[in-house]
Amino acid sequence: MLILGIDTSCDDTGVAVVKQGDIIISNIIASQFSAHERFGGVVPVIAAREHTAKINYILDSALEKAEVSFSDLDAVAVSHHQGLMLSLVVGVSAAKSIALACQIPLIGIHHLEGHIYSNLMGRTDEIHFPFLCLTVAGGHTLLLKVVSHGTYELLGHTRDDAAGEVLDKVARHLHLGFPGGAAIQKLAEKGNPTAYHFPRPLINRRDGEFSFSGLKTAVISAIDRDPNLNVADLCASLQQAIIDLLVSKTMLIAETHDLKQITLAGGVALNQPLRKALQQEVQQRGYQLFTPQTDLCMDNGAMIAGAAFYLYQTRGADPLSIETLANAPLGTTGIRYRPGSKYGKGS
Ligand code: ZN
Repeated sequence: MLILGIDTSCDDTGVAVVKQGDIIISNIIASQFSAHERFGGVVPVIAAREHTAKINYILDSALEKAEVSFSDLDAVAVSHHQGLMLSLVVGVSAAKSIALACQIPLIGIHHLEGHIYSNLMGRTDEIHFPFLCLTVAGGHTLLLKVVSHGTYELLGHTRDDAAGEVLDKVARHLHLGFPGGAAIQKLAEKGNPTAYHFPRPLINRRDGEFSFSGLKTAVISAIDRDPNLNVADLCASLQQAIIDLLVSKTMLIAETHDLKQITLAGGVALNQPLRKALQQEVQQRGYQLFTPQTDLCMDNGAMIAGAAFYLYQTRGADPLSIETLANAPLGTTGIRYRPGSKYGKGS
């Protein structure tokens, strides 16, 4: 089954062609980095304008690279839930037009499901239900038990900021540019992670609840207080605090719920020190850690097509009247969680 996957949920225009949910034939991602850089964050109206300008070209590029035409496609999948409303609409409109013109099924995917399935692509023989998924991105910090295709249980989430959001906000305060996570990781490589003693809120609580706003406030006040700030040390100390929080909560939840396979998803999954720290803890317990390939960590169309292949078999196709929602519950159990400010407050 050849599926065209489209993701325009935030600031990257992603289109991919994927065979049987596993084989990525093409995966084109157009970054809007330069359009948002001077604002220090994603500007929704600019994001939608950029998607609109690029979507046809990216669609053509994905098909051309895959050496297929619209008539070869068996289905079209699109992120229709969770993200910036104006951006989502661009991808959904394109997907509806393709489904109608080619008379193929339309499959709506929750953007987070794409991130979850980025780990499963090509690994369905290795990863078995139920497993634990830590999703860490600019707008999300979630611990989900993936029970079966499309069914999830929320085991942990942030009560305030997402981890990636803290990195972006601190980077903006330090004028390090956007996106902040990569800039902080680069500086952290040269810094001492024990130089600043930042708080690790809720780290001793025996549940999956995260809190990052106290950490963010402590880091920002340290920046404002210290005229001789060592930026590398500060970045290393902040990164270490976030890693400690993510790793300790993930291992606690994995042990409590006896989930021995752990997957990491989202943009922050690219952070090498986080991967290393998780891997160490996982190995000590005889558990397994799975991380997506690099080009599947950021937003992309391939993960949407991958999720669609499996979810189409359980949920079927969607009507052309499919809704587009900025904040939407997740999966068959309708999980509601609090997305970060990248996507606006709500649900
Ligand atoms: Zn995402």
